Amino acid sequence: MRCMTWMQPLHAEQTIDTMTETPAPYRVTPNADYHADYAPAAPPAQLPRAPLRLSCVVPAHNEEANLEDFVRALAQAAGRLTPEFEIIIVNDGSRDATHAVALRLAQDLPVRYLALSRNFGKEAALTAGLAHARGSAVLLIDADFQHPLELLPEMHALWLAGYDMVYGVIVDRGFESGTKRVGTGLFYRLINTGKQVKVPPNAGDFRWMDRRVADALNALPERNCFMKGLYAWVGFKAAALPFVPHDRAGGQTSFSMRRLGSLALLGLTSFTTLPLRVWSIVGSLVALLALVYGAWITLDTILHGTDLQGWPTLAAGIMLFSGVQLMSIGILGEYIGRIYEEVKRRPTYLVARDEDNSPWRDS
Ligand code: UDP
Ligand code: MG
Repeated sequence: MRCMTWMQPLHAEQTIDTMTETPAPYRVTPNADYHADYAPAAPPAQLPRAPLRLSCVVPAHNEEANLEDFVRALAQAAGRLTPEFEIIIVNDGSRDATHAVALRLAQDLPVRYLALSRNFGKEAALTAGLAHARGSAVLLIDADFQHPLELLPEMHALWLAGYDMVYGVIVDRGFESGTKRVGTGLFYRLINTGKQVKVPPNAGDFRWMDRRVADALNALPERNCFMKGLYAWVGFKAAALPFVPHDRAGGQTSFSMRRLGSLALLGLTSFTTLPLRVWSIVGSLVALLALVYGAWITLDTILHGTDLQGWPTLAAGIMLFSGVQLMSIGILGEYIGRIYEEVKRRPTYLVARDEDNSPWRDS
């Protein structure tokens, strides 16, 4: 594997030449980037690809301000790549006029409109969109214009060149608060402690994936979908495209710090058992310390005949170790909670309405 820092841009002649089957017309533009440290060592797809039929999945939660303009812009951008495309709008329990806007769009564009029965969260909305996508490639993109449509031709070119997954990597986190940046850094450090699955930092849900990847994701049985982890878990040849997100066109973000925190917790419990292991190590160290301390007290009493002393040590010790025990039980509880969610086997989402105006509605 070539070693390069992931911010370093590739030049056209460097780009995909290492992948031997790459036909010349599929050369990729110069600012394509390859997230080398996180790229799974998978073989590239068989080329040439089948003609592009693109399914664009757009999750929408309270997006009345953006949806119409966005879907029209997306239709234009997709239409420039292929005449064969569908746009899957997943209305994730919006409380505003998103439903009416989406229904209107489904009348004059190749739109499949799925309305979930309530707000299930973005991960579930994406899962729903993926499960209903019928194209030979699937694009996941937010409805708020933050993901640049200008990158679509580049994603397409990388797909044609043999990459099965092309994902956007946010390069500018300057607009975020310090706490959020530190939290994000810590999260990626923790989740990537495992050797096998590496989740690339700052890679979001802006992705282009081949049918093979979509099928692999659809086949996963879990209910608690932490998509960023699952994309990494399925593997396949992947390329990263750095981008600076635009400002949100209208409306406001649905992700508060609290919601981000619980998403991070879901990610950690789904993809690493390090927190559990940490407590085994802490437990062993504490036990060792207690043994040494006990031996020292015994010796002190035998040698110097010292009277019983040290109740403050006792009190502090009891408080410290009950705290440690409660924390470890809490962490265990997080994992048990996830197991409980999984064994209930409830569906990830429920579709309340399905309006299909896609060109492939009968397939
Ligand atoms: N979204 C969703 N369900 C939710 C929250 C968000 O489908 O419960 C959609 C939202 O409409 C948007 C995308 O997910 O298309 C990203 O959401 P948002 O812009 O609020 O997140 P941010 O970009 O701030 O991370
Ligand atoms: Mg957004």
